[in-house]
Amino acid sequence: MEDCIFCKVVNKEISSNIIHEGKNVVVFSDINPKAPFHFLVVPKRHVSSILEVEKLGDSEIRELVEVISLIAKKFDMDKEGFRVVTNTGRGAGQSVNHLHFHLLGGREFGWPPG
Ligand code: AMP
Ligand code: ZN
Repeated sequence: MEDCIFCKVVNKEISSNIIHEGKNVVVFSDINPKAPFHFLVVPKRHVSSILEVEKLGDSEIRELVEVISLIAKKFDMDKEGFRVVTNTGRGAGQSVNHLHFHLLGGREFGWPPG
């Protein structure tokens, strides 16, 4: 999709620190990290948020979830715990309208989130 920053990351039109690329999913470092580990897990296909998940196929959805687990283990986040967040809509602070899961780890997390 034109003018979508994460589509540009996926298509390598802008530089980013890609740490994993699979058939349907890309994982890269958040440019403004909120934890020692802060990755963004995105489908290659443009969908604006989890509210459009029906536009993704079963294999894409499965890969998204499996990659979160894979990367959490790869960076040893499974030992102390980690958090997965998908901000959806203005009230939750979504600033990029391409579905993404924040994968955060390497520190303690408060609950409830702010
Ligand atoms: P959200 O505000 O939940 O929509 O999350 C969007 C995230 O994308 C923020 O944490 C930003 O720091 C991050 N971000 C924006 N542009 C880039 C970029 N070019 N490369 C990596 N992360 C980005
Ligand atoms: Zn996009």
